[in-house]
Amino acid sequence: MINPDRDTDVPPDATAHVCERCGRPFTREQHLALHRGLNHPETLSDAEREAFETARDEETEELRRFRLLALAALVGLYFGFLMTYAVVT
Ligand SMILES: [Zn+2]
Repeated sequence: MINPDRDTDVPPDATAHVCERCGRPFTREQHLALHRGLNHPETLSDAEREAFETARDEETEELRRFRLLALAALVGLYFGFLMTYAVVT
């Protein structure tokens, strides 16, 4: 879970999406939607809840894709080493 007390900083040339409840800035609209759902779940409007659920589903999907890619990289590395071992020794 995100620590709501942690200090955050926004570069001066960046557009910030600022949480209207606690003032915390985010670089992406999607991150703000996730923050609202995780840190202010009791005060969400219908549209904000929907944005949170969409952002959460997208993040879950991104994580799943990352895990698959990481697994593929590990398998590739394993067989790379295995073939190197078979050829060299
Ligand atoms: Zn907030």
